[in-house]
Amino acid sequence: MSDAPESSDKKEEETSIPNPEEDESEDSSDEGEGGASGEAEMDFLRNLFSRTLGLSPGEKVLDELSLEGVARYIQSGKCKNIICMVGAGISTSAGIPDFRSPGTGLYANLQKYNLPYPEAIFQIDYFKKHPEPFFALAKELYPGQFKPTVCHYFIRMLKDKGLLRRCYSQNIDTLERVAGLQGDDLIEAHGTFYTSHCVSFLCRKEYNLDWMKEKIFSDEIPKCDKCNGLVKPDIVFFGENLPARFFTSMKMDFPRCDLLIIMGTSLQVQPFASLVSRVSNSTPRLLINMEKTGQSDALMGMFGFGGGMDFDSEKAYRDVAYLSTCDEGCLALADLLGWKVELEEFVKREHERIDSKDKQDKAKSTNESSGAAEGKAPGVETEKSDKKE
Ligand SMILES: [Zn+2]
Repeated sequence: MSDAPESSDKKEEETSIPNPEEDESEDSSDEGEGGASGEAEMDFLRNLFSRTLGLSPGEKVLDELSLEGVARYIQSGKCKNIICMVGAGISTSAGIPDFRSPGTGLYANLQKYNLPYPEAIFQIDYFKKHPEPFFALAKELYPGQFKPTVCHYFIRMLKDKGLLRRCYSQNIDTLERVAGLQGDDLIEAHGTFYTSHCVSFLCRKEYNLDWMKEKIFSDEIPKCDKCNGLVKPDIVFFGENLPARFFTSMKMDFPRCDLLIIMGTSLQVQPFASLVSRVSNSTPRLLINMEKTGQSDALMGMFGFGGGMDFDSEKAYRDVAYLSTCDEGCLALADLLGWKVELEEFVKREHERIDSKDKQDKAKSTNESSGAAEGKAPGVETEKSDKKE
């Protein structure tokens, strides 16, 4: 048995995704936005050089490095392209286990699957030969309920108020979609459980979450009904590229961002973490997290990613850390913006709607006593009936 590939140099908190090259992946949602990307790339380089050479120091946009300062900036009307970058921390209050990251005890619990090494369960080559452990784990960790958090609905409010440029998520739990963000609002950098595809390159037939859930809970290995190939949720496995949209949208979005809000991520996973340095050097950056993160570290420096977060030094001029849970942080910001009541009512209303739909679904499934493990048409209806792409 050889060493676990690529595992030795990982950070202890979260694992990194190899192959972040910007080549085409087989992701079908490529928007073909590449036309202006050369220009955006030049903007990025210009920014990087001016920062590195200390040429143009960033402009101080916030009147105060605090949540109040951020709120006043949002209210000033000068801030219309907010990007949210979110990670597992925004879903923990929804009871979603941190599916892929060690630290949840997940990797320690994998012995029963007889893996050659723990990470194999999320490695694409291993999965294609031995899909059983992954689906057994998916069943074990499958969320009982998909109920977005206050934080998810806060992001939705930014969208409704015309302030959200895009939300970049590392999560695969689909809660952004349940909260009402749609395909174009969202970059699921590490993929999603929302859709699945046949792994055969020639086929690539798409399946929805209901179809996949049924397979997972009936302990069936999901097989394509067209070509009998293996069907895999569209989450990014180790050894797979990030979705092409991640790279094309990133180049368009970040140079135009006028406020970056980073929530519930320890900024340990590349290339996601390096996004914070892609905004202009005047763009304010707000971190809502349990601890400070993203400050310049040797690793980021080595790869040429400057622009680590600076909350505390004498030179700090644009970064704000609000240390709390994501829900508390969003409520506090909503309060300062005068949106608190609206947000709380929105959350209550949406949660009631999800609860009543759950009840209906349960009642329906107990009435349908026929098992229904076969012959269901995939790909048409989505689990969240009122969401569409
Ligand atoms: Zn197929």
